Amino acid sequence: MVNKGLLLVLSGPSGVGKGTVKSAIVEQKAFPFEYSVSMTTRKPRPGEVDGVDYYFVSVDRFKDAINQGELIEYNEYVGNYYGTPLKPVEKMLSEGKDVLLEIDVNGAQKVREQMPDGVFIFLTPPDLHELKHRLVHRGTDSEKVIQGRMKQARKEIMMMSDYDYAVVNDTVANAVSHIKAIVEAEHVSVKRVIDSYRKMVEED
Ligand code: 5GP
Repeated sequence: MVNKGLLLVLSGPSGVGKGTVKSAIVEQKAFPFEYSVSMTTRKPRPGEVDGVDYYFVSVDRFKDAINQGELIEYNEYVGNYYGTPLKPVEKMLSEGKDVLLEIDVNGAQKVREQMPDGVFIFLTPPDLHELKHRLVHRGTDSEKVIQGRMKQARKEIMMMSDYDYAVVNDTVANAVSHIKAIVEAEHVSVKRVIDSYRKMVEED
């Protein structure tokens, strides 16, 4: 029997740099995992690839996915839908692969309710001023959207209490190395390995 993989949920306030940290983990192959590609009704940004960054779909297709129960969770965020497809996640976990989700805090809360065994990692900004600077610097959002994201961020920071780990995104390299350490530690946590040891002892 294959041990189930870890469900790694990377979340945190809007604009904290979840996307950048996720991309760094993917590019560096910081540890072995599969990325769960979300579905969204947002339009692709320059350079984003359908099926890699997101499944870019119409509102009708997204609503259909909700009605068919295809999503573990979904959320409407700044006028667009985002959701996590269930089947691929279940399949990868049952094959013993670790699965990385990068989703907003509302989504993470819903995943926690359904999959409490997951490892929930909250990415925090060093401070709110830095967060605003990043959103402006990214240059992809209007002033109105940035204000919406900042308002959301203040609320979201306090949601940290529902998570297992808080990682400060002071530099991407630091954040990636902390997340790598968390994943390695989780793999040897007694609650995750005790069943296989129990089996070994009983079979001896
Ligand atoms: P962006 O438009 O910048 O790619 O993403 C906006 C927000 O949506 C980010 O906070 C991102 O983490 C979140 N997001 C991406 N995929 C999902 C998803 O499948 N579910 C939920 N709930 N949020 C998501």
